[in-house]
Amino acid sequence: MEKIRAIVLFSGGLDSILAARILMKEGIDIIPVTFRSPFVSIEHAVRLSEKFLHKPTVVVDISEDMLNVVKRPRYGYGKQMNPCVDCRILTFKLAGSVMKGFGALFMATGEVVGERPFTQNRDTLILTAKNSGYDGYILRPLSAKLLPPTIPEERGWVSRERLFAIQGRSRKEQFRLAQDIGVDEYPSPAGGCILTDPSFAKRMRHIMSYLGDVGLFEIELLKLGRHFTFGRKNWLVVGRNKEENKRLLELSMGKQVLVLQVNGYAGPIGLFVSERWDRCSTYLSSNIVSSYSDAPVGMSVSVSVKGEETYVIDVFTRKKERFRRYMVVV
Ligand code: SF4
Repeated sequence: MEKIRAIVLFSGGLDSILAARILMKEGIDIIPVTFRSPFVSIEHAVRLSEKFLHKPTVVVDISEDMLNVVKRPRYGYGKQMNPCVDCRILTFKLAGSVMKGFGALFMATGEVVGERPFTQNRDTLILTAKNSGYDGYILRPLSAKLLPPTIPEERGWVSRERLFAIQGRSRKEQFRLAQDIGVDEYPSPAGGCILTDPSFAKRMRHIMSYLGDVGLFEIELLKLGRHFTFGRKNWLVVGRNKEENKRLLELSMGKQVLVLQVNGYAGPIGLFVSERWDRCSTYLSSNIVSSYSDAPVGMSVSVSVKGEETYVIDVFTRKKERFRRYMVVV
């Protein structure tokens, strides 16, 4: 008899590993699916899928959709910029298409009733399923017994009896279950979503309101460096170390930005984003970049400015404290 197939929304966190393994034990042919966006790293999911599920996870890029949800969440934000309810609805909707594409009959997640007070309470779990258009097809094996029966349970594809009634923030039961099935490695439950990070959220809020809008490029910039804003929509990002400088250079490729760097001294890369780069704002940006270089204060240095054309601006280096008022403080 052909196996029943289901997709499992797989973050690589313990709960999603357990959900997948519970279904595997039930004889379900599971397909792990991981959603890629600029806000989460999928590295753990890719590796742990191979390790614990013995198959690769299917990676689906939802960056654009996710950014739209972050900018205008119907159900609002959590503590920071995390629109978890909308995010869940979006991922269920997209998972529904993946499910059909793979000929799967239902989907499963590692959500646990009450694990996160606002986004994983019983009512929210029911609401997200309803609003996704896949109500009845979303099984939460770890808390299934606390939720209305789903189609896979009603049709006997999965035994409700052998599912679980885990709830609350204590993860004791999950750790016990993990031990039973030999799962000895997993990242934190939030999966490291940077939208929950207070510093990132503060920067993002500031830049969104300052520029009026942000795209995926701006989100990548927000993950790096020190940020300065001044005048009309002038945004300077200054690298804090070699890796960030390298990443800023990569991000500048093919973009309408100016790349600033002090000549003759070690110093950061500055990436200057603007609607129009007038001399005054470019001078100020060069000044800021030079203040983070190894050039002594009070020294005249040249800063190379690379955009559509390359030229040099001479500035006197100042103490960085002088530019603090432009800094986006987090
Ligand atoms: S923490 Fe981030 S990835 Fe997780 S549900 Fe919330 S917004 Fe989505």
